[in-house]
Amino acid sequence: MAGGKAVAKKATAKKVTAAKVTAKKAATKKTTGNQTAVKKTAAVKKATVAPKKASAAVQGAPAAKAVAAPPKGESQTALVRRARRINRELAEVYPYAHPELDFENPFQLVVATVLSAQTTDLRVNQTTPALFAKYPTPEDLAAANPEEVEEILRPTGFFRAKTKSVIGLSKALVEQFGGEVPGRLEDLVKLPGVGRKTAFVVLGNAFGRPGITVDTHFQRLVRRWQWTAETDPDKIEAAVGALFPKSDWTDLSHHVIWHGRRICHARKPACGACPIAPLCPAYGEGETDPEKARKLLKYEKGGFPGQRLNPPQSYLDAGGRAAPPLGAG
Ligand code: SF4
Repeated sequence: MAGGKAVAKKATAKKVTAAKVTAKKAATKKTTGNQTAVKKTAAVKKATVAPKKASAAVQGAPAAKAVAAPPKGESQTALVRRARRINRELAEVYPYAHPELDFENPFQLVVATVLSAQTTDLRVNQTTPALFAKYPTPEDLAAANPEEVEEILRPTGFFRAKTKSVIGLSKALVEQFGGEVPGRLEDLVKLPGVGRKTAFVVLGNAFGRPGITVDTHFQRLVRRWQWTAETDPDKIEAAVGALFPKSDWTDLSHHVIWHGRRICHARKPACGACPIAPLCPAYGEGETDPEKARKLLKYEKGGFPGQRLNPPQSYLDAGGRAAPPLGAG
């Protein structure tokens, strides 16, 4: 565990450096052009009390005492521009953002996603190798002895309910879809235990079809950013979908979820170390002192900086690293 912590600390330092680089780039962009964009988002900037430059948010901005005011009167065009800029900034901070569940095919992804409820992706990644070694296909899992599956799934919590779900899901795949995971939303949501969120994870990451994953992080962040006031996941999905081209949806979901897991936490957002503070109307909701904020940066359960034990090559090429191997944390 100690090794894992050291590694996580290192990752944090690296992330802050990445944030600084991003902030610098953002500041350069501001001074070298794009005056129109600056003008049009003036209403947003005036309303916030975040530091003017993202670098200031990381390096030593004065602490904001109150929660920043909302961007009153922001037009739809200004909102679209601000939302897309946040996504671009996050893409620079998390160039390797990706689904954090290990999978080799759509069946593994749909099962892993169902198992990820109420636990970390790292825990799921530590559990699924044994599951898929014993039950590599929907047919195998459909015919499994539930008690044996429960034993494997025990570490993920709610293991009896999850066993029922994945066996039921596998049976449905065998009986209704010839043992294949369907690639259409309307079919996926008919599978037991699969809602729109899981369906979009599968469509976006196993089939390359654009989808917005409205999980708990996504809901919290888009409300903090005032992209939408909706609270119903389907309405959030529609409102946010309207701000971005479809082709951005899957990556946008990863960026937002990664930011929620790493910096913009539910209870203690690290505003003082946040690279998108100048664009965020909720700046000040969390710790604004840069030193204190930096201490809040964390990665779930030692994932460094992601949670995959077997990440794809593209993730490693972009600077991502595998999580510590099983038993290391
Ligand atoms: S940590 Fe969250 S709330 Fe704070 S400035 Fe960043 S995005 Fe906004």
